[in-house]
Amino acid sequence: MIDEKGILFVLSGPSGVGKGTVRKELFSRETNLKYSTSMTTRAMRPGEQEGVDYFYKTKEEFETLVEQNRLLEYAQYVDNYYGTPREYVEEMLEGGHDVFLEIEVQGALQVKENFPEGVFIFLFPPSLEELKDRIINRGTEAEELVLNRLKEAKKEIDMMDAYDYVVVNDQVDLAATKIQAIIQSEHCKRERIASQYKSILEDDTL
Ligand code: 5GP
Repeated sequence: MIDEKGILFVLSGPSGVGKGTVRKELFSRETNLKYSTSMTTRAMRPGEQEGVDYFYKTKEEFETLVEQNRLLEYAQYVDNYYGTPREYVEEMLEGGHDVFLEIEVQGALQVKENFPEGVFIFLFPPSLEELKDRIINRGTEAEELVLNRLKEAKKEIDMMDAYDYVVVNDQVDLAATKIQAIIQSEHCKRERIASQYKSILEDDTL
């Protein structure tokens, strides 16, 4: 094994883009990734399980975790808190495991500040390009509506700047395959294996 530490992968993107679906498809194939189960104050949905889908917390419990600096990032989303437990992520990475987060964009930007060496993957809505073409080609659309739509599209594109990779989610299985390819490529990066390579060169017995 050449890598000593694990790699942190962060999948994020605009709401409704299908992050959860792509993550589940990826984890049905990838057994080497450690998924960091998030904490949330939202109510458990039917079929969900404590510790599998989320760790369910009260608002007070969540705020205590924030005060104790036990979250790597957290965000408020539709009146609820969501956050990533710091200890699990750090322990797994130290132990040489790759860790995978699936979180919304505000949280991903916080992770980037703490872990700039992480790999940030932006899941892109398939309809955005169509939307753009439609906006441009359809000269008859009311001007205000065109502007609003463009503004929304631009906001999404703007968030992409902080990311290393963009995966268009036009087909879930294809998106998961692309993420697997990204994971493999990251493990082959020269800078990740350079120190090991140098120690081989310095070994006089070889
Ligand atoms: P849901 O309530 O549908 O399970 O998730 C709502 C949103 O919260 C999704 O966009 C999901 O990616 C995001 N999310 C889940 N866990 C976390 C987390 O730990 N931190 C942040 N910032 N967002 C999260």
